[in-house]
Amino acid sequence: MKLIIIGAGPGGYETALEAVKLGMEVTLITDGPLGGTCLNEGCIPTKTFVSSQTLCEAQSRRTAVITQLQTGIAALLKKVNVVEGHARFVSNNRIKILPTGEEIGGAPIIIATGSKSASLPIPGAERCITSKEMLELTRVPESLCVIGGGVIGLEFASIFNRFGSKVTVLEYCKQILPRFDTDLCKRLKQSLTKLGIDINVGYQVEDINAIDAEKILMAVGRRPNTDNLGLENTTIEHSRKGIAVDDNMQTSVPGVYAIGDVNGRMMLAHVATFQGKRALNHILGLTDRIRFDIVPSVVFTTPEVATVGLTEEDCKANGIEYKACKSFYRANGKAVAMGETDGYCKIIVEVHPSASSGTGKILGAHIMGAHSSDIIHEIAALMNLNATIDDLRNIIHAHPTLAEVIQQAIQ
Ligand code: NAD
Repeated sequence: MKLIIIGAGPGGYETALEAVKLGMEVTLITDGPLGGTCLNEGCIPTKTFVSSQTLCEAQSRRTAVITQLQTGIAALLKKVNVVEGHARFVSNNRIKILPTGEEIGGAPIIIATGSKSASLPIPGAERCITSKEMLELTRVPESLCVIGGGVIGLEFASIFNRFGSKVTVLEYCKQILPRFDTDLCKRLKQSLTKLGIDINVGYQVEDINAIDAEKILMAVGRRPNTDNLGLENTTIEHSRKGIAVDDNMQTSVPGVYAIGDVNGRMMLAHVATFQGKRALNHILGLTDRIRFDIVPSVVFTTPEVATVGLTEEDCKANGIEYKACKSFYRANGKAVAMGETDGYCKIIVEVHPSASSGTGKILGAHIMGAHSSDIIHEIAALMNLNATIDDLRNIIHAHPTLAEVIQQAIQ
C-alpha cells in the first residue's frame, strides 16, 4: 500500500518509518531540513542551550548535535522515498510537488507541516526576534525582554538569565504557563524570580516601542503552518486554529489526515508522533490504545517542570473530588546530596469516599525540580494502567533516587 506524507518533523518522519515497518511504500515530501522545527530550531537546539554554561559552548554544540541527529534520521529513512520540494494540493486527493511540477495522488495523504511563530500585530513588532533567531545569537544581550510567559518564553528567559542577560518577562495572563497547575506556576515564578528574572503577569504589551531592551523575544504562541498548501483547492476544513481532524486524525476529506502542530490540537513533538501512529492505524484498519488525555509535558526552565493529567483547577471545574498529595525535594536524600533542593512533587488523586481502603485513582502529577522531566513518566505509565495510589504504595523505588519524591508525596 502507498502513502504520501508532507513534512519531515517528528510527526512526518516518525510516521514514515513506522509505515515502512508496516510494509507500506512511502513518499515523504519536505521543503525543509529533516527533523523539522523540533530538531533544527526547537526542542533539540534549546536543550543544547539548557545544558551549556556559555553561549559560545551552546552554539558549537548546537551545530554538532543537529548534524549528528540529522545524519541518523537520513540513515533511518533509507527505505523511504524522500522528495525535496514543496507540496501543494491541486484537488482533494492530488498534490503537485514544486518546483518540478510532478503530480502524485491515489494514496492516503498525511499532512504534517508543523507550525510557525506567531506575532502580535502591534507597533514596533518588527523590532522583535523569534525563538529561531534567539538560537542564532552569537553574543549575549545585556538585556532581554521576553513577551509571553509560556513555554518558549520561560525556557529562553532561564537560559539567557544563566548566560548573564538581565531578563524581563511580560505575560498577558494572571499566571505564567496559563494552562498549567496554578500552584506549580506560583512556585516556578518564585524560583525564577529568586534567580534574578523579573516576571510581570497581567501585562498586555500594546506597543513594542515602549520597551527598553537590547533584544526582545516575541513568544506569544505558534500558528499552524498551512502556508501555500493549496487548501483552497480542496474541501479540507481548516481555520486559523489549524486543519480540523477527528480522533483518527482524518480531515473532512476521507483519506487525508493532519497530524502534529498543523491540526492545532496540542503543539508537542511527541503528540505529533503518536497522532501519526493513530492515523496509520486508521488507514490500515488497526486499533490502538493510545491515550491522548495522558500526555506528559515538560518545560526546561531552571528548575524544570513536568506535568501530566488533571490539574487542581481541572478537578474543581469538573466537580471531581480530589486530594493533592505533596512532597518536597529538600526532604529527598538524593536531592539534598545533589544540592538540588528547590522542587516539589504534587500528585492529584481521586477521592472515593465510599472506598474502604480510602485510596483513589491517580489523575495527574505536577513536579518542579531537577530531572522532573524524567520522573513524570512513572506517573504517566501508572495513569495508562488506571493505577491507584495503593498500587503506587506497593512499588519498590530504589534509594537514594529523585524518583522517591513520588512515593514520598503519597506517604
Ligand atoms: P504558549 O501558548 O505556551 O505561550 C504564549 C504566552 O504568550 C501565553 O502565556 C500567552 O498568555 C502570552 N501572550 C499572548 N499575547 C500576549 C501579549 N500581548 N502580551 C504578553 N503576553 C502575551 O506559546 P509558546 O511559548 O510560544 O509556544 C508555542 C507552542 O510550542 C506551545 O504550544 C508549546 O507547548 C510548544 N512548545 C513546547 C515546548 C516544550 O514542551 N518543552 C517547548 C517549546 C514550545
